[in-house]
Order: sequence, then C-alpha cells, then structure tokens
Amino acid sequence: MAQITENEIKEIVSKVIGELKSSKPAEKNWDSTQYNGRKFIGIFDDMNEAIESANRSYKIIRAMSVENREKIITAIRKLTREEAAIMGELGVAETGMGNPEHKRLKHILVADKTPGTEDIVPTAKTGDNGLTLIEMAPFGVVGAITPSTNPSETVICNSMGMLAAGNAVVFNPHPNAIATSNYAVDLVNRASKMAGGPEVLVCSMKMPTMESAAIMESHPLIKLLVCTGGPGVVKAVLSSGKKAIGAGAGNPPVIVDDTADIPKAAKDIIDGCTFDNNLPCIAEKEVFVFNNVADQLIEGMKRAGSYQITKEQADQLAKIVLVEKTNKAGKTVKTVSRECVGRSAPVLLAKIGIEVGSDIRCIIAEVGFEHDFVQNELMMPILGIVRVKDIDEAIELACKAEGGRRHSAHMHSKNIDNLSRFAREVETTIFVKNAPSYAGIGFGGEGHTTFTIAGPTGEGITSARSFTRQRRCVMADSFRII
Ligand code: NAD
Repeated sequence: MAQITENEIKEIVSKVIGELKSSKPAEKNWDSTQYNGRKFIGIFDDMNEAIESANRSYKIIRAMSVENREKIITAIRKLTREEAAIMGELGVAETGMGNPEHKRLKHILVADKTPGTEDIVPTAKTGDNGLTLIEMAPFGVVGAITPSTNPSETVICNSMGMLAAGNAVVFNPHPNAIATSNYAVDLVNRASKMAGGPEVLVCSMKMPTMESAAIMESHPLIKLLVCTGGPGVVKAVLSSGKKAIGAGAGNPPVIVDDTADIPKAAKDIIDGCTFDNNLPCIAEKEVFVFNNVADQLIEGMKRAGSYQITKEQADQLAKIVLVEKTNKAGKTVKTVSRECVGRSAPVLLAKIGIEVGSDIRCIIAEVGFEHDFVQNELMMPILGIVRVKDIDEAIELACKAEGGRRHSAHMHSKNIDNLSRFAREVETTIFVKNAPSYAGIGFGGEGHTTFTIAGPTGEGITSARSFTRQRRCVMADSFRII
C-alpha cells in the first residue's frame, strides 16, 4: 500500500499556501481519480456501475462479522488521523473555502467521535408469550449526497456510520469538492483493504452531476437516501419516494441576555462563528443581544478578533456577498455568492476596500432584524448584531431568523427560565448553552459527532443506528429462562 511521505505532505502544504495567498478559488481542474500518482479505488464513470459495485460490497459486508466491520472502522479512524492535514489542505485548495487547520481538526473529531458498531443496540422483550428480539438491520446500499462545505469529513463520517450498520454506500459528492471527497472515498477503501475487508467498500463518481444523483434516487438497488446539503437537494431526495434522511440548511441565531458572562459569550460566539470560516451549518450566524449589555458584548467581540463595520458598509458588503438570481418560478431570490462563501474576514473586508491583518477573524455589524446579514445563511465569518429590549423580543426575533428549519440555536445566559424558554420555543435539533456552537457536535461538548444533522427528517445527530431498519423475531412460548 502506498504511504504518504512527509515530503509529500510538505509539498502539498506549500502548494496550497501559495494558492491561498491569491485568496481566490484555485483555478485548476481537479483530478477526482488520483492523488500524487496514487489511483483512487472505487471511483466510477457511470452511476449504474457504481451502484452495482456497491451492491457487491453489500453482499460481502452482510457476510462479515461485526468484529471485522469494527476492524475496518478502526483502520478508517487511523488513516483519517494520519491524513487529516492533507485533507484539510486539499479541501481548502479545491473549494477555495474554509481554514486548513480547522478542517484538520474536523477530521480528527470525525476519527475520534464518530460512533462505530457499539451504536447498534438490539433489544429483547420477554413475557408469558415467550421472547421477542428486535434487531437493527442494514438497509442495503445507501445513496449519499454530500456537500462542498465539509466534503471529506462527511464522506468519512457517513462511511463509518453506514458500514457500522452493515450497509454499503455510493456517494454523489458535490462537484466543487470532488477531488477532496474522492480522496476520502479512497481512504475508506484503503482502510478496508488494510483491515482485510473488500477492496471496494464504498463507491463514488468521477464526475457527479444532478443526472447521476437522479439515477441514484430512482435506482431499485438504493434502499436509503442520505442527503447532506442545502434546501434544493434535500427537497429532491425527500420527493424521491424512498426512505430518505435529509440534513438541510440552518441559520443559527444566538441570544445573549444580561445575565450572561459577557466577555466569555463574546469570545465563544466569535470562536464558533469563525470556525472553518463559518462553513459548519451549526455555526453562529446572527446575534440578538439585550440592549443593556450590547456595547460590552461588541467590545468583547472586538477583543476576540472582530472588525466592526458601519451600517452603510454592511449594506455595501451585503450587495457583494449575496447575488440576485431568478428561480424556476421566475421570482428574484438572493443567494450567497460562491466567491464569498467560506472566505476569511480579511478577504471579505478587502471587497469593500478595507485592509486588515490576519488577526481579524470576524466582521461584525449592528443591523436591523430585516437586514440580509440576519435573514440569510451566509456561511462566512460575518455576524449581524440586533439589539433587543428583553427576552420576549429576543426569542420572537431569533425564532423568526431560524425560520423553522429546526437546525441549531445557541444562547448565553445564567437565567434558567430564559434558557429553557428559548430552547422550547425554537425547537432546533441542536441547542448549545454558554459555549461555542461546535460544542453541539462533540467538540468541547459531550456526545458523539456527526456532519449530517438531520433536522427535517428527525434523526438528529446521525450515527450508525440512524442508517438501520428495525426487524423483529418472535419465539412464541419459549426461550425464557425464568
Ligand atoms: P448544496 O445544496 O449546494 O449541495 C449539496 C449537494 O447536492 C451537491 O452534491 C449538489 O451537487 C447536489 N444538489 C444540489 N441540488 C440538487 C438537486 N436538486 N438534486 C440532486 N442533487 C443536488 O450544498 P453545499 O453548498 O455543498 O452545502 C451547504 C448547504 O448544506 C448549507 O445550506 C448548509 O447548511 C447545508 N449543510 C447541512 C448540513 C447538516 O448536517 N444539516 C451539513 C452540511 C451542510
């Protein structure tokens, strides 16, 4: 098996740093079939062939012991830790988005905190009528659609959970992150081979398209669809007529009331908001702060590396980071500029003629509730700050900004009534109290991690058990031991 040498790591790091300095997306055709001469395993030209191959893998996995599945998962953890820096650099270089060191940390989180086969727990019921066993069975071949924002993290995290549950997977990754996603597909297949599993455990496309996604959605061998992405693609899989898990968009609000530890709240919010340049769907996107502590919060945010822009500058920047498009219904809608998503604060500020150093990691602006910085999921280190008079107004506006997506919301407070009320009313899958948003996915908070947070379909913080179906076996009148 080809090992990655230290020199190869250094080579890619210096290449990527060169590309990042240009602060533009890398202008390069990314090869989705190989990395530094090592041909990727499991990459197909044709979606039908990829599905057939995954079905062959499924037959092998079905015959495999749980212990052997766990050995493959252990090997995936090992390779993910070893190659986290490469995937972090590659992800940024290919997509032009995010922060390589933060992406490295996200891979380590996936390696350490994605549950394996221990997550699959059978249950038994016994009584006068004997024994009934409920087991969590695989679906078969899973079709997974993955985003550009956490590409390799999602491929690896999904692969581990789906394999732990006994499934095989075919990926239709985001075309803008195809080299990074397929690097991760290959990593999973190398780990499988290392641990004595099938050579092609998971499959992907050389050039994924909407058409290949459509083939996946309707293919009879695909028994479960798992989609991590924006509203368009989640709607598409939920309309497929198959069992689907939808992990969609968020617009997480943060409330800060006047009982909070304000300096800590300021730092936590900026830490969460700027992690991987705000690409994580759980990251803080707008703030509602009590008027009587707003000045102190803003000062704390500036100390934590924020640059405050005026209302006029915020309007100017909003016109750059959002572009108007006509949707299928002929209506004009605002969508985020792909040239701005996941870019750093200095790069975004330069677009309105403000030069700052690399110590600036967030852009903050006091705005009204209707402002674009509050209403849109920007996925950039930009925070709109709205002053509110009390908890009633804070909760009302924060719930409106969250928009019923039921994704994530956060709050800084020591008032348990306020905390409980917002948690109940906002109804999000993740609710983080007094910490950066990433505590909600196990980074500095308790609990396992995932990069597929299924709000719309209710699986929540997905793990192996989310990718299973219940089966019941009944033995009437026997097999009790009492
Ligand atoms: P995106 O929606 O642009 O793309 C996701 C994938 O769907 C890509 O592979 C894309 O090619 C494909 N796609 C888009 N429309 C499709 C359609 N109609 N049919 C089939 N495939 C289609 O997502 P992105 O920009 O990579 O990711 C950002 C979005 O994803 C944000 O809204 C973010 O909140 C969300 N997200 C959610 C989670 C979560 O766990 N809930 C995790 C990561 C990202």
